[in-house]
Amino acid sequence: MRSPNLWQSLRLLQRTSYYRDIPRHSIHTATSRIPNFAFAFDIDGVLLRSSKPIPGAADSLALLKDHGIPFILLTNGGGKHETERVAEISNKLQVPLDPSVIVQSHSPFAELVKGADEASSLENKCIMVVGGDGDNCRRVAEQYGFKNVITPGDVFMANPSIWPFSKNFNNYYETFARPLPKPVDPTDPTKGLKVDAVFVFNDPRDWALDTQVVMDLLLSSQGHMGTLSEKNGRTDLPNHGYQQDGQPPLYFSNPDLWWAAAYPLPRLGQGGFREGLEGVWAATTGGPSKGIELKKTVIGKPYQGTYEFAERQLLRNRATTFGDATDLPPLQRVYMVGDNPESDIRGANSYRSEVGSNWHSILVRTGVYSGGEPAWMPQTVADNVQKAVEWALKSSKWPA
Ligand SMILES: [Mg+2]
Repeated sequence: MRSPNLWQSLRLLQRTSYYRDIPRHSIHTATSRIPNFAFAFDIDGVLLRSSKPIPGAADSLALLKDHGIPFILLTNGGGKHETERVAEISNKLQVPLDPSVIVQSHSPFAELVKGADEASSLENKCIMVVGGDGDNCRRVAEQYGFKNVITPGDVFMANPSIWPFSKNFNNYYETFARPLPKPVDPTDPTKGLKVDAVFVFNDPRDWALDTQVVMDLLLSSQGHMGTLSEKNGRTDLPNHGYQQDGQPPLYFSNPDLWWAAAYPLPRLGQGGFREGLEGVWAATTGGPSKGIELKKTVIGKPYQGTYEFAERQLLRNRATTFGDATDLPPLQRVYMVGDNPESDIRGANSYRSEVGSNWHSILVRTGVYSGGEPAWMPQTVADNVQKAVEWALKSSKWPA
């Protein structure tokens, strides 16, 4: 005989006078147990599909909130600040959510504002932000704390000859371009604009301009726009001299090559831009066939760095909820619920936790995955997010 539906039991429990109107922290006391597990949910294809809530998603989050079980929303999406994104999701699901529960593909960039030390801090350095609508991503970067942020659009409006074909987009760039902190100096470029880091925050809207400007910086000396490093191509130097002359480090968020949109077939994602740039880089430098790589940092699922950031965020949220009590049980398990084997499942399976937690991958059938043998095998398959949560709670023997 099938055991009683755990979901129903939990909902029933909540409706009893025992739980009603009890502040959330009292519930932990009532259950006399702090969960040693947590959840990470992908958003698209798990909680929402084409911006519409997936049945059971809102109930699942509400239930976890009621029980004080920590969770984060871990998405490769981006282009908006976390507060804006979380307000949208709260509104769609009709579940109040705090901005601290969301980790977007570019969220970890915020840690580079201060860096590991003063020397590595980018707070007051000039950074270039690429991608996104208008300069939304510049404003996200500024909200993170970067104080000197430019876009390829700013460079173009001040120097239209840098990529003449973008004149067709003048009306677009006029809406947000700002004056550069320093001009590109044609007589002595080393006195002009210098860029200290390049961040691809979101899908570029003008791939060609963005490719040109990023290539200019990668081939420059010290990140000065308008220069060309004399080290480029020198076979006596590592990487044939490429990116050996103080050029700005290059960061990418969201490695997804394809994404599911309204069009019947998947569309090229941010990973598509990266592959395009890699191709231009290889054609220019000789590329991998000559042992020359494009040095860059890629974050977003399935990369380790993103899962590390997500786990730190979960631990911070846990400490906020339960206090920094020394008897706080260690976080032993995180259930990663996702619809994409390539990113969600692969990332959870290969993640090695800094605190020794175990990430358990659960693949749902409400998004990208449509059956058959997935490219990356999950530890559990569930029909939808509600079933996934139900299974996980049972597996963690919750409530005790
Ligand atoms: Mg997804």
